[in-house]
Amino acid sequence: MRVLILGAGLTGCTLARLMKNKNYVVSIKEKQNHIGGLCYTKTSPNGILYEPYGGHTFHTKDTRIKNFVLQFSDFNNYIHRKGIYINGILRHFPLSKETIHKMEKSEQILQEIEERPEIPDLTNFETYAISQFGNTLYKLFIYNYSKKMWGVEPRELTTKYIRNRIEMKDSNTQIFDDDFQGLPVKGYTEFLRNMIHDIPIELNTSKYDESFYNLILFSGRLDALFKFKFGILQFRSLRFDYRENENWENKNYGSINLPQHTKYIRKINFNIMYQQKTDRSLIQYQEPITFDDRNLPMYPIYTKQNIELFDRYLIEVCKSDKIIPIGRLGLYKYLEMGQAISLAMNMLPLIENWKKLSPKVRYFELKKLLKN
Ligand SMILES: Cc1cc2nc3c(=O)[nH]c(=O)nc-3n(C[C@H](O)[C@H](O)[C@H](O)COP(=O)(O)OP(=O)(O)OC[C@H]3O[C@@H](n4cnc5c(N)ncnc54)[C@H](O)[C@@H]3O)c2cc1C
Repeated sequence: MRVLILGAGLTGCTLARLMKNKNYVVSIKEKQNHIGGLCYTKTSPNGILYEPYGGHTFHTKDTRIKNFVLQFSDFNNYIHRKGIYINGILRHFPLSKETIHKMEKSEQILQEIEERPEIPDLTNFETYAISQFGNTLYKLFIYNYSKKMWGVEPRELTTKYIRNRIEMKDSNTQIFDDDFQGLPVKGYTEFLRNMIHDIPIELNTSKYDESFYNLILFSGRLDALFKFKFGILQFRSLRFDYRENENWENKNYGSINLPQHTKYIRKINFNIMYQQKTDRSLIQYQEPITFDDRNLPMYPIYTKQNIELFDRYLIEVCKSDKIIPIGRLGLYKYLEMGQAISLAMNMLPLIENWKKLSPKVRYFELKKLLKN
């Protein structure tokens, strides 16, 4: 059976590897001039490993995923820790009661947290955040950060992204509580190159002859696949600026959130994330921008309208006996890397049975997988 994978991001490469291991005849086409999608590592002119699409920390609790990725690279033991600037003072992120005790208006903030409802208000992003953190903290940093990040009022967003991402703890913790964390020691490009070392790949193209393949796994945007016939699915993108050898406030933090900055949302220090021992450095500043043809679709914007629109495209693609949507673009879902691999692994039985199933069952099975 001939399988074409469109897109050499983490999801495409994972499925290419899994299907090749099961003796399918697999090939890949990638529309960009490099593999990896957003998981892309380069070396800067001043000799620093960095990621042009934002720093990525791999993390998982799942031994199956850990064992899978370790076949293709060693990982450094970087544990992701973040800071956040609030009113000019660098604090630990996520904010916890331990940090709040040291802040202005701490009594009011802690009282609001004490009085929060037992069950968070899931009406929208804003009601959820206020019901978790109280009004004062929400106004202090969550509102600014979210408005800048998503380009829409937080009340227009559903809770799909924010739920399970931030919660109030008693003491300071790491961002991810997974025991396996780190970055591939030579970067994501090398890691993915090893993953697909024996699989034919063509870069700079998205053209294909449908009749030549039995299955096509599509990790691009579904609205583009269907020539936007129901409308445009919105994504948020980022623009990146770099500063060399700039002072970095605290070596414990690989990244620092900037909720009150007029332009940037966060900054990243690649020396810390890649544990590079050099006296030079490269700091990346990230500015959220509207997605258009000049940049990459990065974050699905979870408004009710976008979620409903995506569902129409999903129903449409399930009518195809050949084309199966995969990955964060094809499935319009923000996926951490561990989740992207896990979803790819869990989708494999559906992919292998796709032709035998009715459009309704395909849709139902995909929705079931997307719930996790
Ligand atoms: C700024 C940012 C930071 C992140 N940080 C982390 C982190 O720290 N930890 C973490 O676990 N996750 C992180 N993630 C999530 C991570 O990037 C995703 O898990 C990962 O990129 C998912 O891979 P994918 O293959 O599904 O999608 P992608 O990486 O987008 O790959 C899709 C590929 O398909 C190609 N393509 C699209 N359309 C076509 C077409 N028609 N024909 C051919 N090719 C096509 C694209 O060019 C791309 O190469 C971050 C995401 C962002 C946006």
